[in-house]
Amino acid sequence: MSAPDSLFAGVEPATPRRYVDVALALPLRTTFTYELPAPLDAEPGNRVRVPFRGRELPGVVIAVRDDCGSVPRDRVRPVRAVLDRAVVMPPSLLVLAQRIANDYGCSLGEALDAMLPSIAKQRGVRQLPHVELAVPVDLAHAAAEELEEKHEQRARVLRAVLEWSGPMPTLQLERQTNTSASPWQTLVKHGTLRRVMIDEEAEPLEPDTSAAGEPPILNADQRRAVDAVNVWLDRRAHRVCLLHGVTGSGKTEVYLRVLERARALGRSAIVLVPEISLTPQTVGRFAARFPDVAVLHSGLTGAQRAREWHRLSRGEAHIAIGARSALFAPVRELGVVVIDEEHESSFKQDSTPRYHARETAIARCEIESAVLVLGSATPTLESFGRAKRGAYELITLPQRAGHGTLPKMLVEDLRKEGKQQAVGGVVISRALQLQMAERLATKEQVILFLNRRGFAPVLVCPSCGAAVKCPHCDVSLTWHVRRGRLVCHWCQHEKRRPELCGYCSHPRLHELGAGTERVEAAVRQMFPEAIVARMDADTMRQRGAHERVLSAFRRRQIDVLIGTQMIAKGHDFPDVTLVGVISADTGLFVPDFRAAERTFQLLFQVAGRTGRGSKPGTVIVQTHCPENYAIAAASSLDYERFVQQELAFRRATGYPPYSRLVRVVFESKRETEAKEAGVALRGELQDLAEVEVLGPAPAILAKVQDRHRVHLLLKCFTAASFAAAMARLSTVEDRGTHALRVTLDVDPMAMM
Ligand code: ADP
Ligand code: ZN
Repeated sequence: MSAPDSLFAGVEPATPRRYVDVALALPLRTTFTYELPAPLDAEPGNRVRVPFRGRELPGVVIAVRDDCGSVPRDRVRPVRAVLDRAVVMPPSLLVLAQRIANDYGCSLGEALDAMLPSIAKQRGVRQLPHVELAVPVDLAHAAAEELEEKHEQRARVLRAVLEWSGPMPTLQLERQTNTSASPWQTLVKHGTLRRVMIDEEAEPLEPDTSAAGEPPILNADQRRAVDAVNVWLDRRAHRVCLLHGVTGSGKTEVYLRVLERARALGRSAIVLVPEISLTPQTVGRFAARFPDVAVLHSGLTGAQRAREWHRLSRGEAHIAIGARSALFAPVRELGVVVIDEEHESSFKQDSTPRYHARETAIARCEIESAVLVLGSATPTLESFGRAKRGAYELITLPQRAGHGTLPKMLVEDLRKEGKQQAVGGVVISRALQLQMAERLATKEQVILFLNRRGFAPVLVCPSCGAAVKCPHCDVSLTWHVRRGRLVCHWCQHEKRRPELCGYCSHPRLHELGAGTERVEAAVRQMFPEAIVARMDADTMRQRGAHERVLSAFRRRQIDVLIGTQMIAKGHDFPDVTLVGVISADTGLFVPDFRAAERTFQLLFQVAGRTGRGSKPGTVIVQTHCPENYAIAAASSLDYERFVQQELAFRRATGYPPYSRLVRVVFESKRETEAKEAGVALRGELQDLAEVEVLGPAPAILAKVQDRHRVHLLLKCFTAASFAAAMARLSTVEDRGTHALRVTLDVDPMAMM
């Protein structure tokens, strides 16, 4: 400790003291000042470890100063360590973090924490905890049966490990079963599971560059698109360009050319793709063209991510490709950000900070005078609306490039199919059945799409009409035949199928509606000789299953692939000539203003899975409401027609793009507590101008995991009113208590 100042009055200390302002990854809206004791050295953007309320926490240096401001000098505590002097976030990212904090109502430290993967600071190989069976498989099955009644979560965990086959990472296990560590820890204590440490994979990534060849000669539309974007790159000006082009129209080729220009100008680039289409093939297309690509996504191990991050940070790689969080790649001299499939809801993060990568990319590109290219066959209403207003450059690729034609779309009105099939819930219309038979005869491939997993979404009593519901959530349980379990798709609660109706003891429950499992059963029955595979969250519970099924399908070892939206996106299978949409209606009646948009997008994307090769494709859309505008427009692949109607609807109701939304959700085991909190907040927001406040009202999912849910929705009609609303709301989460959970969600994508 240093002596009191008075002793040194008039004497210069040998080394002047230095101080740093540090942002901590806590929901606290201020930064904290610490002394930087010699010989430690740091600059803004460095990570440090500091003492805080009896703990030591990591934080990011925001500023270095030679005074400690208003904090009394003897109260300032020293920085404990600079974590890695070489890891420095570029200044532009510090500015961006502040924008995220302002727009999404989180602290600066939380925003920075999301940008800098914790992994970036660590080096070398790490060991990760896994669990595996410590008893024979049949014993484990018996144990799961036994635990079912009293310890449902433990039974659920044990079954997940059984399905995984082999050591399962505990993180994955907890995520998949929606449990904490305690169930698996208890199973370890009882000797059913064993905990093992396994080295993290540290092999460098090998992108699949096999498809690389000579770059094609651009067609006229592509040329126009590339030129339109490059104008802004050359001017070093910020601009958002919306590239609207159907699947296969050559958007990726346009991105590649734009990236080429950026690199020629000495600038770097970021490419964001949805997690699900981040395949080795996608990465390969970029890696084949550029030597300096780094890949960032959650599928990488910590060591791999750290390596890629450092390559970008050190300037060894200049192109980052990855999912949402790759937007925070530490590149300098950013020239262009590409967001492919910009309509995908996975660009929104659903935990703090709840940023939307598209909106945040606009901010980053503004800060760095970079160009943002948004690509999609079905742009969001937000992006298309802004482009129509002239805020964005609208660029269209109207035709498929290379070979490949748009598929023929046929609508099957299920109301004509008669009662008999509808009762069972599986409806493969006669038309679809006939077409499938033809394809199977000529050895062409078929995709059947249904966005609902399990066998039947509801079990109902034919006598009293009661459905079997989740004991913790306000939803019915889905019947899964293969697992022999009823499962809650919200909290993952599982239970055995009851013999009798719980209300009237009627002895037989009916399976109502259809999921992918039921479609699979129907197809196997109709075409016993066909090789059928199913791809949904249930069949993908085994390590590596995803790639196995896709590559078997690509090698034509599977005739019919049935799946949820997992198969709707991005994959390119030239021999698929028939796509059947089992029900176009599953998402249509969800009370969410984006229901029509989602339905349209999904149908359009599914249609993109056929006709990619030399043979033309056919899509059969089965629906009970062929006259619905989203379904009708999708069935004629008419984006313009859909958007016109949808924009009119959004304008009339004041939803985006005509407003920016803010949602506040209150959750409590006591319904009145949630409601009262909502009413109180509404009262405080009454006087905001140009803001419409809806609610408080029960959320669509009125109860999840025993918590009642009430929400409030704000439509902010101007940028100023959004800022005013956020000034009031940025600390609303601080009202949360142990009993009351408060969530602030700006640009919400889910209204559930
Ligand atoms: P998108 O990204 O819009 O789905 P891609 O860029 O993947 O489209 O292009 C679809 C297919 O057409 C790819 O196989 C690609 O190699 C090919 N392709 C793209 N542009 C051209 C072109 N100008 N000439 C010939 N083939 C092209
Ligand atoms: Zn539940």
